[in-house]
Amino acid sequence: MFESLQERLGSILNGLTGRGALSEADVSAALREVRRALLEADVALDVVRSFTDKVREKAVGAAVLKSIKPGQMVVKIVHDELVAMLGEEGVPIDLNAPAPVVLMMVGLQGSGKTTTTAKIARRLTDRQGKKVLMASLDTRRPAAQEQLRQLGEQVKVATLPVITGQSPVDIAKRSVQAARLSGHDVVILDTAGRTHIDEPLMVEMAEIKAASNPHEILLVADSLTGQDAVNLARNFDERVGITGLVLTRMDGDGRGGAALSMRAVTGKPIKLIGTGEKMDALEEFYPKRIADRILGMGDIVSLVEKAAETIDAEKAAAMAKKMQSGKFDLNDLADQLGQMQKMGGMGGIMGMMPGMGKMKDQMAAAGLDDKMFKRQLAIISSMTRAERANPDLLKHSRKKRIAAGSGTDAAEINKLLKMHRGMADMMKAMGGKGKGGGMMRGLM
Ligand code: GDP
Repeated sequence: MFESLQERLGSILNGLTGRGALSEADVSAALREVRRALLEADVALDVVRSFTDKVREKAVGAAVLKSIKPGQMVVKIVHDELVAMLGEEGVPIDLNAPAPVVLMMVGLQGSGKTTTTAKIARRLTDRQGKKVLMASLDTRRPAAQEQLRQLGEQVKVATLPVITGQSPVDIAKRSVQAARLSGHDVVILDTAGRTHIDEPLMVEMAEIKAASNPHEILLVADSLTGQDAVNLARNFDERVGITGLVLTRMDGDGRGGAALSMRAVTGKPIKLIGTGEKMDALEEFYPKRIADRILGMGDIVSLVEKAAETIDAEKAAAMAKKMQSGKFDLNDLADQLGQMQKMGGMGGIMGMMPGMGKMKDQMAAAGLDDKMFKRQLAIISSMTRAERANPDLLKHSRKKRIAAGSGTDAAEINKLLKMHRGMADMMKAMGGKGKGGGMMRGLM
């Protein structure tokens, strides 16, 4: 399903041939696939629509970097827009208020509210040295209060002792008083959930809010929720007013759709994500990672960025000319090898391209790795100018000198010459048809 977005976009994008600027038709073709994929990832329809509109506006007429294909440019624009829509990264929980600072956790039953309460308490205690008090306001399920108490023991954070018969509002008030008396910096209120949103739940949340004056109201939501995520976030935000989101179960096969919808609908930051059942499985939110997950494209985006940074367009054009004429000498090979090293070597380039992981292993098994590139560069730099321009000069005695100079041997020099001959032939053959433009274009 989602994994195949890459393939689907791949075929469309490879078919795009326009150069220079992206045309309306190029962009529309790509956006149809993006739209379908976002819907499959359970991103809400409204959100998908406003998203694709924004991308269209940015993409049509955008200049295409010389060293990449138009389709890849579209992918980058889609990616950047996703990141923008997902919002800022690493927005911390705001504790900037007089102690005790009250955090109110809201959400549906089973969303991971109690677990997240304990995870946050542990984080604030361990990382920020805060004295935290947790309280369960779930009076309908006695097991909920016991669950929080046990988690509190586990993470060594105090929980408010239970007094049977107290209402959620009274427990909230007592928590704040107790925290004030015993010098706690932070109080985390774990409110009761329901299996779905209903009026009594919203009324209860509003009352708790009024009684405890929380500085943050965090909506805890399951990232596997799908389309319901939008209603959930909208309701809680409109009725109670949330200050941020925590998305749980991001370790499952959550595809990020819920994250995008909830963020778009509420405009509130995603502050943290839950990535497992253990108490330390709570992480900061990185929009770029979620965008990558939604696109499922390998890291084409970094590839495009790196290409833009490192490849000098004029140099590439000159190289293309040389290739077409078949005049690709060892100086040019050294240039290309250097270019590849700048881009993070073989591993860097392959790792960024979808589906290339296996190929990388195979190449490594064949001895084609970065060490080899370094040795090849060493060989070439031990040659004279004349030798580089005309490899036919390289007879036995010259090879011996070069081997000594580069710390290699004649066999390795022969291997390099053979590879160079192969490349020069291939480029000559390609030169007639394609536009050339460096090894990068060959790779992509
Ligand atoms: P509550 O009803 O909202 O308080 O939900 P709980 O905190 O009791 O969590 C319900 C279940 O989800 C528990 O088994 C948790 O261990 C599990 N859970 C919570 N957060 C995560 C998460 O980020 N990843 C995974 N895999 N499980 C989680």
